[in-house]
Amino acid sequence: MPLRLPKATQISLLLLLVLLLGGGFASTSLVSYYTSREALRNNIINSELPLTSDTVYSEIQKDLVRPVLISSMMARDTFVRDWVVAGEQDPAQMTRYLQEIMSNYGAFTAFFVSDNTRLYYQAKGILKQVNENSARDQWYFHTRSMQAPYEINVDVDMANADRLTFFINYKVFDYNDNFIGVTGVGLAVDAVVKLIDDYQKRYQRSVFFVDSSGQITLTGAAGGPMGAKVGQQLRDVAPLAGLLSQLPKPQSGSFEYQVQDNGHFLNVRYIPELNWYLFVDQHESLALGNIRQTLYLNLLICLLVTVIVLASVGIVMRRYQQRIEALATTDVLTELPNRRGFNILAGQALQEAKRSQSPLHALLIDLDHFKQLNDTYGHLAGDEVLRAFARQLKSSLRQADIVCRWGGEEFILLLKDTDSATAQQLAEKIRLQTEQNRYPFAGVNLQVTTSLGLTELRTDDSLDSLLGRADKALYRAKESGRNRLCVDAGASA
Ligand code: GH3
Ligand code: MG
Ligand code: MG
Repeated sequence: MPLRLPKATQISLLLLLVLLLGGGFASTSLVSYYTSREALRNNIINSELPLTSDTVYSEIQKDLVRPVLISSMMARDTFVRDWVVAGEQDPAQMTRYLQEIMSNYGAFTAFFVSDNTRLYYQAKGILKQVNENSARDQWYFHTRSMQAPYEINVDVDMANADRLTFFINYKVFDYNDNFIGVTGVGLAVDAVVKLIDDYQKRYQRSVFFVDSSGQITLTGAAGGPMGAKVGQQLRDVAPLAGLLSQLPKPQSGSFEYQVQDNGHFLNVRYIPELNWYLFVDQHESLALGNIRQTLYLNLLICLLVTVIVLASVGIVMRRYQQRIEALATTDVLTELPNRRGFNILAGQALQEAKRSQSPLHALLIDLDHFKQLNDTYGHLAGDEVLRAFARQLKSSLRQADIVCRWGGEEFILLLKDTDSATAQQLAEKIRLQTEQNRYPFAGVNLQVTTSLGLTELRTDDSLDSLLGRADKALYRAKESGRNRLCVDAGASA
């Protein structure tokens, strides 16, 4: 029976473990990664982005409602209407009125444009005369011709270094419902820009506005998506152009698109007050970075656990193997190598001796009349003698020599690198020591003698032929009266 598990069996056992552990761990980690990823994506698309969009929208509304009320009040103010109907006599009166509105209501700018004179009044005086042919004045003619009582317009403020401003343009009518001009206040969009910046920084999201023609109208201080600037068309922003081809016009809803290998989540919301679209864009990898890191950490832990388990199994297997081997090759009573152990050691010793051409002797020892000793003193006494004899044998040998319990009360020695004279001396010493030795057991000093057969290794020897000659020599020792050494006749002595 082979003592070792075949290499292939060991490898397939370890492979099976790797498969079970690694496969189990990896699939659990991956399943949990994909589940959390899906949950996170859903959360971003259905909750986080719309929520950001809602907040930005309500912030804008909050900023716009008050100026709309102020502008509405201005449009109905009897002073404004009386002053226009009376022929716009003293511009200083209107200027003072606009100054009052600004300081009382904290408006950024306040204005009145008369339809009769086309003069643009503001707090510092008359700014200009609006002209139908000037692009910058088109807002006035647009307001004038529209049905609704007012519009909210985002434009640069000519009176304030072209600063981007929300204008509320309110139509003014006289007491007979004749259109007499446009009045209202302007409000810097700084607050909204600050809000955009805040959201971008806090949530790593890109927030910007696009008008109905697809032009970017408002971004954070650092610009829009992919470095786009206000005034740029969305179709000129490479990755978003692809998105727009999916959507003929920006429309409210949630979208996903790819920039190279990176996914983006996008929420688009229509803002009716401005006729604009609010875009909130989030980079997938930033949002999923944490759970991806958790996945890598999980996989690393799985790898470590697998390696530790494999190493432990390997160590246990090797120890178990060594223990089985030791048990199978050792004699339990004397703790000397048994015949199986001897065969392994002797095979190597013979090869070595033949290769180095060094002399090697085999000495077979048999205890005399051992049956009788057993019969007289009992089997346990016999065991004790065998144990003590084995100890004595071991102590009289060199480290390199091989000793074995051949079976029953027979022992065999292989004396390495030993010439015939030394081997015979050693054999004789063993015989004499045993004869003189006393083996105490249960108060009795037992005695035993040995018969020994010695032979030297020949170049054409196998282990069997060597031991066969030693056995013959031993037989002669028995035949010729026991308690003696016989040397194989063929050996040089
Ligand atoms: P001889 O001088 O011819 O060798 O006579 P012998 O009695 O020693 O030889 P024989 O082969 O007749 O008997 C060997 C005995 O050794 C028989 C057996 O009971 C005993 N024996 C073998 N193994 C053990 C053992 O492990 N313990 C004990 N106590 N006795 C053993
Ligand atoms: Mg015997
Ligand atoms: Mg015997």
